[in-house]
Amino acid sequence: MTTLQDCRTMDAQDPLRELRDLFALPEGVIYLDGNSLGVLPRATAQRVARTVTDEWGQGLIGSWNGAGWFDLPRRLGDRIAPLIGAQPGEVVATDSTSINLYKVLSAALHHAQAEAPGRRVVLSERDNFPTDLYIAQALCRDRGFELRLVDGAQVQSSLSTDVAVVMLTHVNYRSGAMHDLAAVTTAAHHAGALTIWDLAHSAGAVPVELAGAGADFAVGCGYKYLNGGPGAPAFAWVHPRHADRFEQPLAGWWGHAAPFEFTPHYRPAAGIARYLCGTQPILSMVALECGIDTVLAAQPLGGMAALRRKSLALTDLFIALVEERCAGHGLALVTPREHARRGSQVCLSRTDGAYGIVQALIARGVIGDFRAGSADGGTPDILRFGFTPLYTGFEEVWHAADHLQQVLQGGEWRRPEFNRRHAVT
Ligand SMILES: *Cc1c(COP(=O)(O)O)cnc(C)c1O
Repeated sequence: MTTLQDCRTMDAQDPLRELRDLFALPEGVIYLDGNSLGVLPRATAQRVARTVTDEWGQGLIGSWNGAGWFDLPRRLGDRIAPLIGAQPGEVVATDSTSINLYKVLSAALHHAQAEAPGRRVVLSERDNFPTDLYIAQALCRDRGFELRLVDGAQVQSSLSTDVAVVMLTHVNYRSGAMHDLAAVTTAAHHAGALTIWDLAHSAGAVPVELAGAGADFAVGCGYKYLNGGPGAPAFAWVHPRHADRFEQPLAGWWGHAAPFEFTPHYRPAAGIARYLCGTQPILSMVALECGIDTVLAAQPLGGMAALRRKSLALTDLFIALVEERCAGHGLALVTPREHARRGSQVCLSRTDGAYGIVQALIARGVIGDFRAGSADGGTPDILRFGFTPLYTGFEEVWHAADHLQQVLQGGEWRRPEFNRRHAVT
């Protein structure tokens, strides 16, 4: 049995413990949803206020230069780069994950049409995040490609000679299962296909080595583990060997080689800058910068490797506590036990009651979330708990499991107020 005292000892020995002070966590809340919306960094409110009152209020239009607004997408891209195994100058922070995916998938399809016209298939995972699949469906329809969906475990064996692009999310949003980015990239290249990685549940949570793996394209999210705030800009990365070769379809003026020449014809900027489109939400950009800063604050304490060690310790602990304390209550572990296949979350399934259990936990101050299974019952309803090593402690994990046990034991989750569905789950 793991005791509360064991967990307190783990907290005392945690080399990343001080990083929690970078966040404005509400009192009495155990926040296990940083994989959906990261916590507010303490620095953000003042930084955004300064941008509003000083940079906008006083500097007015001069702040595009004077406060560095115009460079923000590239500057933030440079700061995200080391978190995903990329170099400065290869990443831009911009737009949303969905829009960036549209841009890079379109570029990848152009590439495939030019280099391998016989390949007409985009291969992805059936259980991928829906927006990724919707974007791919629309692009494939418009460009005469087929979107082929397989189970996660079948990706490598489905790499047939007609596959142009393999488009995957590195860590699955529902199950927390993680692909071997390097192995899948190597296998895809061996089979003559390009790779696109969605790092929405990876950036800031698990180490990623895009360049080391030789990957082709990547996108990721700013408001999850990067703590950029609701609707924060996302990011896009393109390997330098491709960046100058193809244009993305949203050819706006921010991606122009010389936006302030105001010429009538589009000339794409060199490199990753061509993946910009139009004017960026500067208030959200500065908030994102504060979020990225919180992850970079771990660099002197061991960086992504240290964050990963703690993340695995937190998820290992939660799995062990749930198995020790909640046995016999119909919970099944969905997330892989194997470290190499696990992201930074733990998902549990239950044939009924998952929604009410999550709501009952939220009422107790333990915030996780619920993801519905398929209507045919093929995939079960899921209780999802994200663990953010920057601010989550081991004692909190103990209390979260304790609350879960109480909610299950007393049947509290059956109460009607916990079973009314909200618009956002
Ligand atoms: C969170 C997430 C998104 C979000 O896309 P938005 O454009 O920000 O709404 C996309 N894909 C994956 C895999 C995600 O986890």
